Amino acid sequence: MPYGDYQTRLKEPVADRLARLNGELRDASATTILRASFVREWENKITYVSSFGAESAVMLALIADVDPDFPIVFLETGMHFPQTHDYKQELTERLGLINVRDIPPNETERKVLDPKNMLWKSDPDACCALRKVRPLEPALRGFDAWITGRKRFHGGARLSLPVFEHGAGRFKVNPLASWTQDDVDSFIARRNLPKHPLVAQGYPSIGCWPCTRPAADPNDVRSGRWAGLAKTECGLHVDKSERPRVF
Ligand code: SF4
Repeated sequence: MPYGDYQTRLKEPVADRLARLNGELRDASATTILRASFVREWENKITYVSSFGAESAVMLALIADVDPDFPIVFLETGMHFPQTHDYKQELTERLGLINVRDIPPNETERKVLDPKNMLWKSDPDACCALRKVRPLEPALRGFDAWITGRKRFHGGARLSLPVFEHGAGRFKVNPLASWTQDDVDSFIARRNLPKHPLVAQGYPSIGCWPCTRPAADPNDVRSGRWAGLAKTECGLHVDKSERPRVF
């Protein structure tokens, strides 16, 4: 179908829209995917959820190239490494980003459910639900789509990651789905972007401090996340129906 205006595209069935977008842009560059998403598909109804982790500089730089005022959501769990906060500030200033939104958990809920901030130890699924999954819902209100930095080489469920997906009432855009570790490293080097300080200490994937270790397996970038547990994802990218019931 012709692209039409925003209202016309809203009426396009989700399956048709996914087929159209994945057919057209599956092999496109990340910049082309971003421009098509910002300018044509979702206009000002799209955001990027960033952890300001090991690979985040790539997407943030690509977004800054297109629009430094693009809305960027940072889930402020209260459990990030201090180095992540420093890195966030450095990248934000370096790239000229002017619309980074810190989203904390609901403080009343946190005081009731996790007054000592130790829930990660007894029930990490409940902790991620409190600090990431539930705060994301209101943060995405008003947006019809969001961008993620996930890549197929991360392994696990990400091995078959499409560029465009749909879940929980919104589209998800993964412009870097086909990127490799070499692609990430060369982009960061070419653009002279700062690296997260923990990368040099053996952390290729960085989340909250209690749940992140240096990678145990150098060929598995996420092997330091929730190390020793069956848990591999925080739940942001799991359909509601598939999430464990935590409360
Ligand atoms: Fe809690 Fe760990 Fe999840 Fe962070 S990653 S929200 S500390 S369980």
